Amino acid sequence: MGSKNLAKITLLSRNPLIFTHFIMDLKAFKKKVAKKKDKLNAFLTKLDDIVPDDMPQLVAEVDKTVWQDVDCTTCANCCKSMVPTYTTKDIARISAHFGMTPKQFKDKWLEKDPDNGDWQNKQRPCQFLKDNLCSIYEIRPADCAEFPHHNKKPFDLYNDMFKQNIEYCPATFTLINRLRKRVEKEYEW
Ligand code: SF4
Ligand code: SF4
Repeated sequence: MGSKNLAKITLLSRNPLIFTHFIMDLKAFKKKVAKKKDKLNAFLTKLDDIVPDDMPQLVAEVDKTVWQDVDCTTCANCCKSMVPTYTTKDIARISAHFGMTPKQFKDKWLEKDPDNGDWQNKQRPCQFLKDNLCSIYEIRPADCAEFPHHNKKPFDLYNDMFKQNIEYCPATFTLINRLRKRVEKEYEW
């Protein structure tokens, strides 16, 4: 899910005098989503039928600007409000890290998704979120490492997923909003 730079913050936090970690205002983000959601969903619905020829380059260009403005270490909303799924490899790797067997790990932290049988977190926020950062960042589940999926190809195949994720992820919200503006301004749309 979210990419968080644990090393950077740990380094800063060693000196409390210079530790001024800003936390994103997620209530304000929710309000922004409520205002813009319909517009962004309409754009994504239209993108099901009309796709700019240079969509991959366009997404890559706009995504670069998103990460100049959105810092996951100030957010962690995915870790607070969504549940990651775990593959068998994830479970083996993370349980070994804690000196547990996969079964002990599953019994303690996971449950099966009733819809598809995937192993997922029992609780949210995620038990591994500490001080707004992922405490198992280097060995986190693949699902977390891939989130927020901005480099999926073809991008427009995942419009429904992005419709859901704009509600939780400020980076995805910003990406879709900036894409919408670019496409409406520069293309016959
Ligand atoms: S919700 Fe999005 S912006 Fe926030 S931490 Fe997760 S990936 Fe980053
Ligand atoms: S393991 Fe938990 S804290 Fe770490 S990135 Fe995934 S959801 Fe967030």
